[in-house]
Amino acid sequence: MSPIRCVRPAAIGLACALLAACHGGHAVREAPAPIADSTPASTQPAPNDTFNAVAWMQTSAEYAALTTQAYRNVCEMLPTAIADPSWTALIDGEQGGGFESLPPAIISDIDETLLDNSAYAARRIASGGPFDPVAWKAWINEADAKPMPGVQILLDCLAEHGVTLVYISNRKHDGERAATVENLRKDGFPLPADNDDLVLLRGDPRGINDDLNDKSARRRWAANRYRVVALLGDNLGDFMDGVATSISKRAALADAHADWWGARWFAFPNPSYGSWEKALAFDCGENRTPEQCRHSQLRSK
Ligand SMILES: [Mg+2]
Repeated sequence: MSPIRCVRPAAIGLACALLAACHGGHAVREAPAPIADSTPASTQPAPNDTFNAVAWMQTSAEYAALTTQAYRNVCEMLPTAIADPSWTALIDGEQGGGFESLPPAIISDIDETLLDNSAYAARRIASGGPFDPVAWKAWINEADAKPMPGVQILLDCLAEHGVTLVYISNRKHDGERAATVENLRKDGFPLPADNDDLVLLRGDPRGINDDLNDKSARRRWAANRYRVVALLGDNLGDFMDGVATSISKRAALADAHADWWGARWFAFPNPSYGSWEKALAFDCGENRTPEQCRHSQLRSK
């Protein structure tokens, strides 16, 4: 194990300060302010077990390389996809009929696909607490999430080819949409004044959010207006529904479309959180705690 796991939360500010030096490309982020931590050492909370994941996302050259690589791969695919009117990145009839003459668009998730929320995660590590919906909503309404490293490559490419960007996120429509639009605009993402059909969030009042997290109905909504040539996301649910299931079933869902990864579907690394976490304790049974289930999933050979 890396010795970095032994670093106390107060050291996160130093890790954050390394950020500007580590992230190259078009979306260099400023070093965030150190996190205030006046808690006496004797009462420090136990280390949050997302430390390594968040530190890697904030400081490693490797993470920035992977996200930059993914955006560039999208751009390299676009000319082929645009030239082929039969090209769609949607499955299970989501694209609908007669799509060949529709203008091209890509559908992207927002969090950890376009916007970097690792500062929120670092705050939770510093406080010693798990995900907190109140703190998350407050973070969203700060509208200050930074763009993901390398994302300008994607934005330049979409502008060059005249491809629309549709944002489908499980941020909430009520109380989070205005700040989300403000944050995206602040970071340079394209969003016209009339963006009702371009930012589709959880709980959309038009009745196109078929489940709390499932995105299929919103993809279909976009597909009535655009030929969707690529999907971008950090979560299996950004590409298909039905992902809240076991580890083996999730793997089968991903494998069923193996030819599309890196061709029509572009996945972004997120070791910090995601629907994969719940799969660790899926079908846990009555005699084990969720924590026991989680640890039982690790292979030792
Ligand atoms: Mg996401």
